[in-house]
Parts: sequence; C-alpha cells; structure tokens
Amino acid sequence: MKLTRRKFVVMSAGASASLWLIRADAAAAHLNETDPAAAAVGYREDAAKVDRKKYPNFAAEQSCGNCSLFQGKSTDAWGGCTLFGDKLVAGKGWCASYTNM
Ligand code: SF4
Repeated sequence: MKLTRRKFVVMSAGASASLWLIRADAAAAHLNETDPAAAAVGYREDAAKVDRKKYPNFAAEQSCGNCSLFQGKSTDAWGGCTLFGDKLVAGKGWCASYTNM
C-alpha cells in the first residue's frame, strides 16, 4: 500500500483523536468526593481538609500515599485503592478506612 500525503494526514488525525479520548477517559477515572461510596468514608482529595471533629482518629501524617490499600507508589499523585475499584484516589488524599498495617 502506497502511503499518500492525504492518507497520512487522515491517519494522523485519527490517531490524535484516539489519544485524546484515552486521556479524557483516564481523567474521568478519578474518584469524586461526592461519590456515595467516597462520601460514606469521608474521602477527601486533600487530607489537610479532613473534618477532624468528625474523624478524630485522623493523624496529619496519614494519606492515601502511605495507606496499605493504595495501589501506587507513595510518591504517585494518583493511584488505585482496593476499596474503589477502577477509580483513582489522590496520593495526598485520605478516608476513614485508612490503614497502615
Ligand atoms: S483506603 Fe487508604 S488509599 Fe483508599 S481512599 Fe482510604 S486512605 Fe486512601
């Protein structure tokens, strides 16, 4: 098959559109604080915003990044959590199911 300039441009546009859709899908995979499952355990993307009166067991050094249920490296901005399926939680987030055992 001879690759003409026109075919190359069309194929490149299709590849670019596919990458854009993949990125948009990945961004949508972040766990939202208003998700009922997240709200049930007080999940916050920023652990500094945890309601300390409601969650007195929260300690400042706790975050998703050092939780045993976090599926990424401690330095990852986002990673999986065994509680939330395919949605990603923030490395600096926190919820009441935090554990470090
Ligand atoms: S269980 Fe751990 S990793 Fe998952 S959201 Fe709660 S604190 Fe973050």
